[in-house]
Amino acid sequence: MIHLGLTGYPLSHSLSPTLHKAALSAIGLQGEYRLYPVAPGDMDSLADLARRIRNGKIDGLNVTIPHKQIIISLLDELTPSAEAIGAVNTLYMRDGRLIGHNTDAPGFLADVKEFLRNTGIQKNALVLGAGGAARAVAYALLQDGWKLNMAVRQTDFNQAQALKESFGAQAGSGGIKVVLLETENLGRLGGGVNLIVNATPIGMFPETDYSAWPEGLPFPEGCAVYDLVYNPPETRLVREARAAGRRATTGLGMLVEQAGRSFTCWTGREVARGVLFDAVEEV
Ligand code: NAP
Repeated sequence: MIHLGLTGYPLSHSLSPTLHKAALSAIGLQGEYRLYPVAPGDMDSLADLARRIRNGKIDGLNVTIPHKQIIISLLDELTPSAEAIGAVNTLYMRDGRLIGHNTDAPGFLADVKEFLRNTGIQKNALVLGAGGAARAVAYALLQDGWKLNMAVRQTDFNQAQALKESFGAQAGSGGIKVVLLETENLGRLGGGVNLIVNATPIGMFPETDYSAWPEGLPFPEGCAVYDLVYNPPETRLVREARAAGRRATTGLGMLVEQAGRSFTCWTGREVARGVLFDAVEEV
């Protein structure tokens, strides 16, 4: 019997239990995937969860908003990608040490490659937002040789500058360009951009009437749009990009890919992605 779970807050809409229960069932492994809601700032409860992983009561834990960064102080070691990104979403024990790993970055990269397969587009991306998911996306794109631009709101400018500094060496001579998320700036950047990634929560249920892309601003010619938000199944951003003839997707594929990778960390077993897609599509 394997004991898996997820901590974060709030957790009531999480699809992770559905994904991991389907994965357990697909490989015929007895186990559970429990939710451990922990309110923001409750370090005692996070420390208690860390203790339960150390003493074997929990075998594997996913971490989501708002604890992906703060929980790092309770761990023994980070994998190199988690260290670079500065956020973890997957915890497990190895050789007596509590390890933090990040499967969002490889999960995003796997899905975006599938999404762009055979398009032959140039690697020039614009990422909206500078939070934990934006860091994972930026890391993944730079690893894959993309040129990177970021658009953030004013309150996020320092966070974006910090990201620029930590990933600067990886970005090569072109560097990372950061602008404010405003119509004029995006219009100016637009021409060269081939992929827009929304890494803000704008448009997420229940606030589904909003889009991270400014109203009335045309999408750049030939540009694809990847929205990390996956609830609702078609966000306003994705709907409008498709209506404008652009290739567009939500982040459901990334969710599936990151879950599959976490599951493999804990069990050593691969699960067919089709099994996971079928499970969430049913929901
Ligand atoms: P986060 O750490 O809270 O970061 C959110 C970012 O968006 C911050 O930079 C925030 O700015 C910015 N933002 C929020 N509202 C904004 C607005 N109205 N205008 C401009 N910027 C705004 O959250 P996260 O972990 O990065 O997650 C971001 C989104 O990605 C969430 O919807 C999450 O569900 C989704 N996600 C999806 C997957 C997947 O597998 N598909 C994986 C991870 C995350 P401030 O700092 O100023 O608030």
